[in-house]
Amino acid sequence: MELTNIGVIRDLFERHGFSFTKSLGQNFLVNPAVCPKIAEMGGAKPGVCALEIGTGVGVLTKELAERCDKVIAVEIDTSLKPILEETLADYDNVEIVFADVMETDLAALLAEKAAGMEVVVCANLPYYITSPVIMRVLESRLPVSAMTVMVQKEAADRICAKPGTRDCGAISCAVSYYSEPKLLFKVGRGSFMPSPNVDSAVIRLDVKPHSGKAPEEEKLLFRIIRAAFSQRRKQIANPLSAELGISKSDLAELMQFCGIKPTARAEELTLEDFERLAAAVDSR
Ligand code: SAM
Repeated sequence: MELTNIGVIRDLFERHGFSFTKSLGQNFLVNPAVCPKIAEMGGAKPGVCALEIGTGVGVLTKELAERCDKVIAVEIDTSLKPILEETLADYDNVEIVFADVMETDLAALLAEKAAGMEVVVCANLPYYITSPVIMRVLESRLPVSAMTVMVQKEAADRICAKPGTRDCGAISCAVSYYSEPKLLFKVGRGSFMPSPNVDSAVIRLDVKPHSGKAPEEEKLLFRIIRAAFSQRRKQIANPLSAELGISKSDLAELMQFCGIKPTARAEELTLEDFERLAAAVDSR
């Protein structure tokens, strides 16, 4: 069944009485070149288990199932169930969990269903929860080697921006802390049904080994990053002094000790700068 063929999709929808739910970010891929590329570049291969978030009619699920030993997919919309039973009938290596990914214990799910396997995340993410899903996977340190996901083009630029450059934000720093991000390719809005108002891009995050920092150290680091970017074009000394309860003069001294100008703005700091500053604040 050609799941990128609009006639086939319309027929499926009609027979199963399905209609799109805009609030769930349901923009389904109809460009036949895209899903095989996501699967290939995402590391779908024998011996691997793919974790997919948001199946739609199963267009990417099918490509993953053809390449991987196993696919575990989490989909919130139960009205897609009868459609998926039909579209994925030929694949006995796919397991779909109908649940909200933000409420699902993904670590327990993988421990139960993919123990001992290399796991990659591959997904065309619902745009309303792009960053929360990415951060949930990274922060919970799922046993995942890479995460290859389609997101809005602007989100891709922000997520992949190097800390210390103009486009970076708190999300760029957080993503860089946990992984090596890379923008793989752009996907125009015409590749989706219905067509969204924005273009998209596929990014790949290669998960780094654990930094060895204790949870409290990480908590402080992210508190500092978030506070620094809360007024991104302004000098970080003001929001940091308020957030950390440290006087501006003490903070200026700490920054200087870390090799950071006291007048620096958040976008001028590299991840290593933030890490040095967090360590200095911690050992005060
Ligand atoms: N993979 C399909 C494709 O490429 O055509 C569908 C992608 S569509 C952008 C996003 C999918 O995520 C939809 O099927 C939607 O129902 C599902 N979804 C939305 N919110 C979700 C959530 N909180 N948990 C799990 N799935 C969700």
